[in-house]
Amino acid sequence: MGDEHIKKAALVSIGNELLNGKTVDTNAAYIAGRLRTISLPVVSVHTAPDEQPAIERTLALAAREADIVVATGGLGPTDDDVTRQAFAGFLGVELVLRPELLEKLKEFFDRRGIEMPARNSIQACVPQGASAIENNMGTAPGIWAWKDGKRLFALPGVPAEMRHMFDTQVLPELRPLVGGQAIAVRRLKCFGAGESKVAERIGDAMERGRNPLVNCTVHAGIISLEVVASAADRPEAEKMAEREECSLRTALGQLVYGTNDQTLAEVVGEALVRTGQTLAVAESCTGGLLAELITDIPGSSRYFTYGWVTYSNEAKCTELEVPREMIDMHGAVSEQVARAMAQGARRKAGTDYAVAITGIAGPGGGSEQKPVGLVYIAVDNRDGTDTSRYIFSFDRSSVRLRAAQTALNTLRLKLNLTGPVPI
Ligand code: AMP
Ligand code: MG
Repeated sequence: MGDEHIKKAALVSIGNELLNGKTVDTNAAYIAGRLRTISLPVVSVHTAPDEQPAIERTLALAAREADIVVATGGLGPTDDDVTRQAFAGFLGVELVLRPELLEKLKEFFDRRGIEMPARNSIQACVPQGASAIENNMGTAPGIWAWKDGKRLFALPGVPAEMRHMFDTQVLPELRPLVGGQAIAVRRLKCFGAGESKVAERIGDAMERGRNPLVNCTVHAGIISLEVVASAADRPEAEKMAEREECSLRTALGQLVYGTNDQTLAEVVGEALVRTGQTLAVAESCTGGLLAELITDIPGSSRYFTYGWVTYSNEAKCTELEVPREMIDMHGAVSEQVARAMAQGARRKAGTDYAVAITGIAGPGGGSEQKPVGLVYIAVDNRDGTDTSRYIFSFDRSSVRLRAAQTALNTLRLKLNLTGPVPI
């Protein structure tokens, strides 16, 4: 099913500062986020320079793609701000001076005890037939207009002014235009496979033009799948999203660890609380990062008891009772030492689970047999110890973060398999 019946928005961000890398376009991000709340999808974000013909071309393009166009920037009083003129050009009308806007501008300057500079009077001009959007925080009023059944808005670029005007004047105007249309969103978080593997598992779900649409983003090894279902009413959108989420979950199985903004540490924490079990960690190359991720979660004291950072061989031997000869024979970065660290940690802490990490975070310290990025992870519980070997890439901080996340994921899988402690 397509989504032709759904009203859509296009955004136009205007300003040379956006094109030369000086300013990040936070306005578009803000507006897109707010439009989501009223189920109005944004189909494009265009960036135009402070040049009238380019702005006119961009407005025309945006109006072809969408029912609603929201532009920001270029409404200042200086010669480089030409959005007002471009709006009039695009609408095919003249700019007209509105006395009541001029009066407000003069008052704005009066309150500050300054005479209004002559060039500010351009800000009291609005394209013929268009309306002004009040700006209580600055000098630039916004503009709204209709063209060929499309609704067009222009707001100042200053983020604080733009946000206030958008929230108090534009959003309330748009809500009734959108009618009952609804966007239902579901977010699934996956860990333990690359994007290609995930794509392979879910078949054609990510194909373009589908409704629900499935979008994929990746950050630090975590794959987020976003299901976006658009429909003429809320129950239908929710039903479509629900159905899609179910089929993704079936296809992905254990790769899905959570939803929305859930972290691996949160999910592991919830499982430990649910089953009444406790956890200790022993870390080498991650230097406490695993313990940090675990204790970032409020209430982690209910299950997290001990964390060791045993960076030197000496520390591994004295703190965790790793046999010295084991390190001499296999090296500190080895399956045997990871296993002994986890077992030592669990024995000393008296917990249900212990997780250990030992590896080479780099950039130095690698060899042919043991390259930079090599990490061993061990998870120990009453049933025994599981160890796994990984080679992570990129830089030192990526290797460390990936190692800590993978340790949490290994623990998550083991917790799912093992279930609660028998009473
Ligand atoms: P303007 O309304 O074009 O005079 O913009 C005023 C200021 O707002 C600019 O100098 C930028 O610092 C900021 N600004 C303009 N557009 C954006 C945008 N899209 N995102 C974030 N800041 C912006
Ligand atoms: Mg500007």
